[in-house]
Amino acid sequence: MADQPTLPWEAAFRSKYQAGIAHTFILHYSTKDYTAGSTLLPSHLAMMHQNWKYVIFYNRSSGISFTDDQMEKSFMEEQGLTQGDEILQALDGPDPELPRDPAGALPILEQALRGQLSKDDREQSKLTGYCTVIIDFAETLAPNGDISTMSPEDRNAMISFQRWATDPHIQDTGNTVFLLTENITDIHDSIRASGSGIEAIEVPLPTTEDRRQHIEWLQEIRQDKGGLQFGDGMDIELLVKSTAGLKRRHIEDIILRADEANTPVTTELVKDRKDDIIKSEFADVIEILEPEYGFEAIGDLEHVKSFMRNSVIQPLKDGNAKRCPMGVMMTGPPGTGKTILAEATAKESGLNFVNLNMGKILGQYVGASERNLEKAIRCITSLAPTIVFIDEIDQTVQRGGGGDSGVSNRIFKRLLEFMSDTTHRGQIVFLAATNRPDLMDSAMRRAGRFDKSIPFLLPEESGRADIFKVMFRKYGHTIDTDLETAISVAATKTDGYTGAEIEALTIKSYESACDQNVSLAKGLEHALDVLRPTTADIEFMTALALKECNDKDLLPEKYKAMLDNKDKIESDITDNKRTIGRQRREL
Ligand code: ADP
Repeated sequence: MADQPTLPWEAAFRSKYQAGIAHTFILHYSTKDYTAGSTLLPSHLAMMHQNWKYVIFYNRSSGISFTDDQMEKSFMEEQGLTQGDEILQALDGPDPELPRDPAGALPILEQALRGQLSKDDREQSKLTGYCTVIIDFAETLAPNGDISTMSPEDRNAMISFQRWATDPHIQDTGNTVFLLTENITDIHDSIRASGSGIEAIEVPLPTTEDRRQHIEWLQEIRQDKGGLQFGDGMDIELLVKSTAGLKRRHIEDIILRADEANTPVTTELVKDRKDDIIKSEFADVIEILEPEYGFEAIGDLEHVKSFMRNSVIQPLKDGNAKRCPMGVMMTGPPGTGKTILAEATAKESGLNFVNLNMGKILGQYVGASERNLEKAIRCITSLAPTIVFIDEIDQTVQRGGGGDSGVSNRIFKRLLEFMSDTTHRGQIVFLAATNRPDLMDSAMRRAGRFDKSIPFLLPEESGRADIFKVMFRKYGHTIDTDLETAISVAATKTDGYTGAEIEALTIKSYESACDQNVSLAKGLEHALDVLRPTTADIEFMTALALKECNDKDLLPEKYKAMLDNKDKIESDITDNKRTIGRQRREL
């Protein structure tokens, strides 16, 4: 095998192979990227085996192939697979080629794996190994799923791989097998199981240093054209930094596009392409949102905005792991602005904002959810620094218990593990919203995942006036003195209204003003007469939110003292629970 492993997966393979731990490997994740320069993974593996007699490639669509024709000819002869071969003729007609379908191809590969170098091979050709089999798109041969519904052909392939990995005879030959796939969870569980004899090794995304090397290489091969053309403050260092999370192939794509358009590589071009690439690659499992409004579109909630500014946005921007929380839980009745505040925080920060929607993660068939979650995790990690929003966490991230909407224990455990991984502190912040923190899974609530819990409470009078003003402005209205006065009056009359209900009032005001041909101030008066707040169980949810909070700085003045009286909060919760129960029974 050629020396000088430079890549971590390659080093991992060598040490496992040389220690006799395994000879069959799954290489997964970034398997479609260049390993360096313009070399793809199968060619890289071939180069590693350049002193071996046979390097055999196989995939379901193009069949068996070799590094060159000479090797193929020699293989056909050695294996007795000549034109007159009966097996091949039976499979492929009178002028046979090597079979393409697994039923024909796998037995030939297996036969090759049982072969060994002859004495002559060793002495005269200085060969060091006999054969390696490199199978790309391995998931198409032994896909994940229920064994009982697998086709006989898939089942056969699965068993072949298992046999190759554990057969002592093949083991003795020193021959190697590589199964390549992007998503390891697409390959059948039994192949990945411990005890299968098959070792999985991740081919990771390029590191900062890998990207630097690749960019320098791209620069070098463009020397005759004057190297890479940068504009708008971009340089090699910044390009290395701003392409975090991308593959070498993507970086090349960005540069080729700039070449094609005859424009320099700019910060904006890189950002746009990066967003597009990540979005298209992960759209099936994650939503990457671009919030429209910042803090200017949120009335009241000053203490929350300032917490988000100082404790989330700034530390994330600075990568300050000491200051940054792992997660922030936003609790309180519906319509109090939890979602809009999470969005505005992302907008203010200018960082990526991802909506982690478990509905997108949970898949239809066995293994799909697991695969989707892994993919989502990779996406989030690639986008860091990033803010991840989880809405209604009490309902969406709930362990199964047999229900349809439940998340399996395995998925739940993996998500918790990711959310508690402290290496992400300062890079990834989870913002989760819930009306019912009491229904959240207790493991999810435990310290370490959400360092802070911010109650979103009903606005007080001045807060309500503030929300009215922000809302009218948001809908494009100017606030004249009449409207200002009407808002002050409205603020006194809307005790118990949520932000969402105040929004409904402003919309109704405009409708009434148009319908009755009156001023917006008059429209507001009318809206107050006809609209009533409808959000149910507000006291109960407020008490629940207060109960979760352990930091007075996260509360408006009026509520600070309440935190000292936890017994009162508890009794509010119990009383309300009883009333809610009664109301439901009466229905
Ligand atoms: P929650 O997530 O708490 O249920 P949302 O953030 O979805 O509530 O709020 C619903 C709507 O109410 C938002 O789209 C926003 O327009 C409005 N809203 C609620 N609170 C505020 C506020 N403090 N300032 C501005 N708009 C608000």
